[in-house]
Amino acid sequence: MTTRILIIEDETTIAQLERDYFELNGFHVDLCHTGNEGLELALHVDYGLIIVDLQLPGMSGFELCSQIRQAKEVPILIVSAKNEEIDKIRAFNLGADDYITKPFSPSELVARAKAHLTRYERLLGKHEPAPKSEIHIRGLVIDLAARRVYVRNQEVVFTTREFSLLEFLASHPNRVFSKSELFERIWGMDSSGDIATVTVHVRKLREKMEVDPSNPQYIETVWGAGYRFSV
Ligand code: CA
Repeated sequence: MTTRILIIEDETTIAQLERDYFELNGFHVDLCHTGNEGLELALHVDYGLIIVDLQLPGMSGFELCSQIRQAKEVPILIVSAKNEEIDKIRAFNLGADDYITKPFSPSELVARAKAHLTRYERLLGKHEPAPKSEIHIRGLVIDLAARRVYVRNQEVVFTTREFSLLEFLASHPNRVFSKSELFERIWGMDSSGDIATVTVHVRKLREKMEVDPSNPQYIETVWGAGYRFSV
């Protein structure tokens, strides 16, 4: 999803430079040139990040930063020509996340923005959960990273296709997939194979995993529909 950011900067050339760099990096950018307009947008639009210049017509960047922070959990980056320590401290005290002095490197600004976005996502728990590295089901352990399978504590060797089929089915427990869906997913459209290969592979998986392959406990046949990895 594209991250939408707001840049509040009254110097047009700087504002456009910032916008160009962020757009090159795949961001959607809104620009505005006054503090009041910036506050209005910041409070009513859901931005991923906001860049604030300190010296603005109307409301100052400090005031803006403080008001946005009271209302929103969003990374705020100050970009300012003011280089005094006291200004930086004041900005941080008002809730700014970073302070970049002009002249600045646009690439560094984008890099810092990305770092703050990542940190916020982590803090707010928006990040994707880490993909599961192992699947455990009734005596079956599938190590997805190492592509190894253990059946009742014994490692069993699966061919690449067998493993891919098992991994796919086990990653979508209790969902029924038709043979043609499985063929398309595992063998791909470019394959010259035959859909009957799915049946053959399912049989091989059962022979390797099941105590009684004729009465499967893992990969069930759903008559007329396909196969389901049952948990
Ligand atoms: Ca300014």
